[in-house]
Amino acid sequence: MSDAARELEKLNRQIAVCQQCQLGQMRTRAVPGEGPPNAQIMFIGEAPGFHEDRQGRPFVGAAGKFLDELLASIGLKREDVFIGNVIKCRPPGNRDPRPDEIAACRPYLDKQIELIRPRIIITLGRFSMARYFPGATISRIHGRPKQSGGVIYYPMFHPAAALHQPRWRPMIEEDMKQIPKLLTELEGVDVELPETEETYEQMSLL
Ligand code: URA
Repeated sequence: MSDAARELEKLNRQIAVCQQCQLGQMRTRAVPGEGPPNAQIMFIGEAPGFHEDRQGRPFVGAAGKFLDELLASIGLKREDVFIGNVIKCRPPGNRDPRPDEIAACRPYLDKQIELIRPRIIITLGRFSMARYFPGATISRIHGRPKQSGGVIYYPMFHPAAALHQPRWRPMIEEDMKQIPKLLTELEGVDVELPETEETYEQMSLL
């Protein structure tokens, strides 16, 4: 087992018992995220929903089924990519994550990114978009990649959006189809992740 794999497992054990915010009291199971420790592509969703909370796995409900279809459309399976979330525990009634919950959970996502060192970070929905594109409007910037430090940050609509608004489905499908091309653009470029929270804050990609 690689060092990264071992560290990720350690992190998963910490997340499973985390009480850094009130959601720790409400969850059935925490959902750390899953995928290969050396995944080149990382998807970041919002928060676990009902089914994820039950199973402890990300994107296993209706939105996850659509995400699987989107991945298949570019020849990928979920085992090929890392799938995580901004927060690791389900907010009651699937309400939006609160700023204090996002802040409490942030070190876990920071550490996952540091260990996995993905080449493409795909944000799904507003909350993960805000980590890299603060103040942006998703309808304006979806499907527009930004490169920084050898990593491509790629904002997409959340797959659940297409389930609520079927007319958005072709747009999400189109954005997904750009991903294989993005990976080839990074060939020969070294990864330089920012090392501290401040530098993440400073690297607003807008
Ligand atoms: N929606 C998310 O943002 N994440 C999940 O894991 C499931 C649904």
